[in-house]
Amino acid sequence: MSSPLMSSDVVVVGAGIVGASVAYHAARAGAAVTLVDAGRPGGGVTANSFAWVGSFGVLNSPPAGPAATGLRATATDEYRRLEAELPGLPITWSGSLSWRAGESAPDVQPGQEIVDAATAAALEPNLRQPPDWAVWVAGDAAVDPVGVTERLIAGAREHGAKVQLDTPVSAVRRDAEGRTVGVDTAAGPLAGATVVLAAGVATAALAAPLGVRVPVEPSPATLFRFRAPAALVRTLVNTQDFDLRQVADDQLIAAADSPDQTLAAIRSTFRGADDVELLSTHVGQRPMPTDGEPIIGPATETPGLYIAVMHAAIALAPTTGHLIAQELLHGTIEPALTACRPSRF
Ligand SMILES: Cc1cc2nc3c(=O)[nH]c(=O)nc-3n(C[C@H](O)[C@H](O)[C@H](O)COP(=O)(O)OP(=O)(O)OC[C@H]3O[C@@H](n4cnc5c(N)ncnc54)[C@H](O)[C@@H]3O)c2cc1C
Repeated sequence: MSSPLMSSDVVVVGAGIVGASVAYHAARAGAAVTLVDAGRPGGGVTANSFAWVGSFGVLNSPPAGPAATGLRATATDEYRRLEAELPGLPITWSGSLSWRAGESAPDVQPGQEIVDAATAAALEPNLRQPPDWAVWVAGDAAVDPVGVTERLIAGAREHGAKVQLDTPVSAVRRDAEGRTVGVDTAAGPLAGATVVLAAGVATAALAAPLGVRVPVEPSPATLFRFRAPAALVRTLVNTQDFDLRQVADDQLIAAADSPDQTLAAIRSTFRGADDVELLSTHVGQRPMPTDGEPIIGPATETPGLYIAVMHAAIALAPTTGHLIAQELLHGTIEPALTACRPSRF
């Protein structure tokens, strides 16, 4: 048998935004961490995310359960903490503006306000026809999701974490008593007393041979990239047609269904959009727990194994990574995670 490549307290499988956040927070709290990924940082669905951090507009799609909603309520505060800890974190505090034509204004939550057409026009000067009402959330943000993942990994390395990329994990290793002792990889075994599975849609297949059921389904969603004039869109705009935001002087991204309908909706919503053109289409498979709630916690069948998979993970990663590190290192039971346990299935 070949000797272990490295030996760690914690092996984190998956360097998407979830695994990167777990690795950063665990390393920062003093754990010896190895982060391992089959590919590059954020190269899974994280790369194709719209990456809205905050209240998710007027309507949540798909609707989140109470545990996810509670965790999401802390998302912007937790990103502000992370921004202070990790200088250069690529986050834009643009606020979000949401409306639905033909509907009446909803009840708003703390941090949200209903604004009139004049205020909507001031926030988005290129609107052809400002809506009668819109929900304005000044504290909402968007991130460069791969940039945040890379910054978390750099932060983890600064705290001593080892990072092994382009290294697929084939199995979780156990000792004779059934405790995790690491993982098998394409480059050989990796030892670790605790193994965190943060492999997104692949988590279920890695856990299944251990008799651990992780009911997460791949849920497709499409991200379009458009060439566009500078400053066409100022905030993060959410309507029945799209989630839309400017990501560079000459580019917009949209989470939406059809490229033609989205292009037509952009042109009919904004003045000066006649030359907007489609650059690319990417379909990402979102890891979607079947009951909509995060699946976070120890797998009771296999001591040492910990599961971390959730939807809207761009928003949730700072909060959950921090709480998971507390549980792994200090043995605490974090109340915000108790409704998320894998054992509920
Ligand atoms: C169009 C679209 C819009 C979205 N909009 C938002 C939004 O506005 N806000 C929001 O919060 N979320 C949004 N999401 C969802 C969000 O992108 C995901 O929840 C998040 O990226 C999931 O991160 P993850 O780390 O769990 O998964 P991933 O990014 O997929 O990471 C999993 C990693 O595990 C690795 N891996 C898998 N198997 C193995 C193995 N055997 N060995 C080693 N490594 C392995 C993969 O290579 C990958 O890097 C959107 C998604 C899409 C597609």
